[in-house]
Amino acid sequence: MSQIEAFSAAEVIAAKRDHHSLTDPQIDWVIDAYTRGAVADEQMSALLMAILLNGMEGREISRWTDAMINSGERMNWSALSRPTVDKHSTGGVGDKITLPLAPLVAACGAAVPQLSGRGLGHTGGTLDKLESIPGWRASLSNAEMLKVLQDCGAVICAAGAGLAPADKKLYALRDVTATVEAIPLIASSIMSKKIAEGTSALVLDVKTGAGAFMSDPEKAKELARVMVGLGKRAGVKTLALVTAMDVPLGLTAGNALEVRESVEVLAGGGPADIVELTVLLAQEMLELAGIKGTDPAAALKNGKAMDVWRQMISAQGGDPDAKLPVAKENTVVTAHSTGTILSMDAMKVGMAAWRLGAGRSRQGEAVQAGAGIEIHAKPGDHVTAGSPLYTLHTDTPAAFTRALESLDNSVTIGEVPAAGIDRLPLLIERIVD
Ligand code: URA
Repeated sequence: MSQIEAFSAAEVIAAKRDHHSLTDPQIDWVIDAYTRGAVADEQMSALLMAILLNGMEGREISRWTDAMINSGERMNWSALSRPTVDKHSTGGVGDKITLPLAPLVAACGAAVPQLSGRGLGHTGGTLDKLESIPGWRASLSNAEMLKVLQDCGAVICAAGAGLAPADKKLYALRDVTATVEAIPLIASSIMSKKIAEGTSALVLDVKTGAGAFMSDPEKAKELARVMVGLGKRAGVKTLALVTAMDVPLGLTAGNALEVRESVEVLAGGGPADIVELTVLLAQEMLELAGIKGTDPAAALKNGKAMDVWRQMISAQGGDPDAKLPVAKENTVVTAHSTGTILSMDAMKVGMAAWRLGAGRSRQGEAVQAGAGIEIHAKPGDHVTAGSPLYTLHTDTPAAFTRALESLDNSVTIGEVPAAGIDRLPLLIERIVD
């Protein structure tokens, strides 16, 4: 027998269209009814667009987030002896920080339950990166997740179907209805999953700059403040760092290439920006988790983080010693003039890596493990005409043409102006409430 509905979708849509706040019962109903199929995609699309255009007040965002959490299960890590802490990045080009960070924070004494996603568009997904390691398995049962966390201190795996199912449906719909960019929708989407994941503390890395989906730093700060508020209201110790994504992070973009670079960081080397951001986030996570007296920079240098990485990869079926996949074809892009690199557009590099096969344009599409870009020089480096800037990797050489088009004008080379190179600082703002 069909259920008698508390509201009609049209009246909820009309309320938001006419600039009214949605009531708590309206929000609870619309999320529940959409999850069980009683509100149609076209009705939810209209409501999402009304939210994007007319916004939501704090109470509505908070209730919308709770309703999404309540659409599924909530994980519980009370069986663990260590405090839990997680980090979430809003995503950027070359952002592989989770890979060294989760084992590093575990090596310093916390438990890190990282339920991650796959990439869509120009930013890569953590699971896609780890799946380039032969044998590694992203899907774990809840019991397996707990075992890996207990044994290794960190687990990185796919969020199960039971975690915030409303968000899975909503996110797919937003993706095809141009409604991803609304701050209430982004904040509730990210925080519903992180709160349902059951972590007691959370550090958010909100990216801004050309390669981030919040390119305006003021918008990124607003998003960070809304998410910190949602976390705190839910009893999760939360803080946010707004960090630079004007230039790619590190020297690689692409799945296996980024794993290789992460292993270099875990071995005590790797690019300075990756090491700096990894250590900064680790310090914030450990402080929020109440762990004192450990030095994450030392745990990278002395091999403790690497030990946890190896254990964590093996626990999920991966071979930490296996040779990583290498793409079949490569081509080198060289500098067109001599001088200092003044800028490098992260979005252009991300789009090129995506076109080479490192990312997907539709959910469910396969990605190439070896595809992507190695970056040989970054802003501040001196180059001579003809010296290598990028190496492009792919299994499908037909992809080179469009990837090369993406890289057109991706760098500017010249004389350093008196005021110095115009770049965002790595840490732009720390938001605690
Ligand atoms: N990541 C999410 O999980 N949700 C969003 O809405 C945007 C980024």
